Amino acid sequence: MKRVQGWFATHVYHAPLGRGWEALNRELLVECRQISGVDAAGRRWSRSSYPGGYTSYGSMDQLHRMSSTFMELGRRLDRHVRAYARSLDWDLGGRRLGMTDCWVNIMPKGVAHGLHLHPNSVVSGTYYVRTPRGCAGLKFEDPRLSRFMAAPPRRADARPMYRTHVTYPARAGHVTLFESWLRHEVAANPAGSERISISFNYDWA
Ligand code: FE
Repeated sequence: MKRVQGWFATHVYHAPLGRGWEALNRELLVECRQISGVDAAGRRWSRSSYPGGYTSYGSMDQLHRMSSTFMELGRRLDRHVRAYARSLDWDLGGRRLGMTDCWVNIMPKGVAHGLHLHPNSVVSGTYYVRTPRGCAGLKFEDPRLSRFMAAPPRRADARPMYRTHVTYPARAGHVTLFESWLRHEVAANPAGSERISISFNYDWA
């Protein structure tokens, strides 16, 4: 046995959605813009809760039940969530993980989304529809950070498993999944045009 071993792993899943994502993204892009166009309540909500950008989180967060295109995305995401759950060795006791919420995020240049987690869910994630070159990624924080107290900082060249933050690039056609308790944020989008993503939650039922 090695003298020093790592424990208490935190796993993040990242993969291409799969074959045919380009055509699906073309449809999703049109619908994301249509939704932001008709969703006056969401635009109002975003003014206070998502300044400079648009999210349907506060108004239309059941898109997988409203649109056949989002339904298709949900079906395809289900496979990835199952694979992620298997990789975590979860015992679901015969129950399944199902999508409970699904919403659109549109971030023009300069818009950020501060640190948060997704309470009352099991798995959360984001699927990328439009990712202009250089746009902000998804930054995760070591969930033990608040317990480190007097622990010395890590060297700048510390091995990846010792980093306190990791940023996954936003790539169109790719999905990132994480356990819903893991805090994350999106830094101000430095790209000159809109970064468009679809976020979702899965619960265990
Ligand atoms: Fe989030």
